[in-house]
Amino acid sequence: MGLRFAADIRTLLWVALAAALVACQFARPELAPYSFWLNMYFALACGVIAHNHNHCPTFKSKRANELFGHVISIFYGYPTFAWIPTHNLNHHKFVNRAGDATITWRHSKKNNLWVLVTYPIVSSYYQSEPISSFIKQAKQKNPKLYRRIQTQYAVWLGSHLALLSLAIGLHGARQGSLLWALTCLVPALFALWTIMVFNYVQHVHTDPWSAHNHSRSFVGGWTNFFLFNNGLHYAHHENAGAHWTKLPEIHARAASRIDPRLMHRSMWWYFIRQYLLSPFFPSLGTTQVGRAAYDTTDRAGAVTTAEIAFGEEGTNEAILRA
Ligand SMILES: [Zn+2]
Repeated sequence: MGLRFAADIRTLLWVALAAALVACQFARPELAPYSFWLNMYFALACGVIAHNHNHCPTFKSKRANELFGHVISIFYGYPTFAWIPTHNLNHHKFVNRAGDATITWRHSKKNNLWVLVTYPIVSSYYQSEPISSFIKQAKQKNPKLYRRIQTQYAVWLGSHLALLSLAIGLHGARQGSLLWALTCLVPALFALWTIMVFNYVQHVHTDPWSAHNHSRSFVGGWTNFFLFNNGLHYAHHENAGAHWTKLPEIHARAASRIDPRLMHRSMWWYFIRQYLLSPFFPSLGTTQVGRAAYDTTDRAGAVTTAEIAFGEEGTNEAILRA
């Protein structure tokens, strides 16, 4: 099949299940109100898969990788190239410090429910700048990349229009558009929102200046099974190109040096404790671990995304491979 890692059979199975679920719901729309939570989970899983695929391509063939990127973008809700300027070239470089478009401390240094739910909106706004600058640079300097970006937008938008038309064709305007919204649109928005929430919880109150405490990790087995080891965020930042199956090993090697406050067993319990209980019992909430991301006035090293993307030797090649 041309997979680089045999374990990605599960990745393909998850994407196939996401597609099969939508097919079943289009055939039997009465099932959708009871099963759309599954679409939300699979859309989120496709977001995690898009992140994995972007760092460590799934297939050996470049063409297969591009095709796979198109498929997951339909469920995840955005063309996959956007990970390059906002994540690979930005977040992984600045790790929640000044210069990172996705900083968790832009308007508040607190870690509460209000900041959590509004963070994706604020973060999306600030990510739009590196995305548009990346597209503009591609248009001027890298026509091949620019064509790839255009194709990704066309496939993503075209697929959603095709799905909407199919649903309307099968079930009429009202029921069809509701069916599309419930099984395709809402899950994709949920996936985009939740992926940003994950970024928030994985970095809020951490210490990006530290070798081991730059990220918060969720180490529970179930969380990591359902999210392809996405909970092991320390390990991911240590070696962003490592395949998701290698993250437990990387985490285990350093676990004794990571501050225990940055390792949680259950993601669910973290959410309940932090956002529902800590307003009433402050001792249950997180506090800054080590040096805060904003604890500096030195921005001399900060450069724009466009400079990173196109100013470094060989980077264009890396982008085309991504
Ligand atoms: Zn990453």
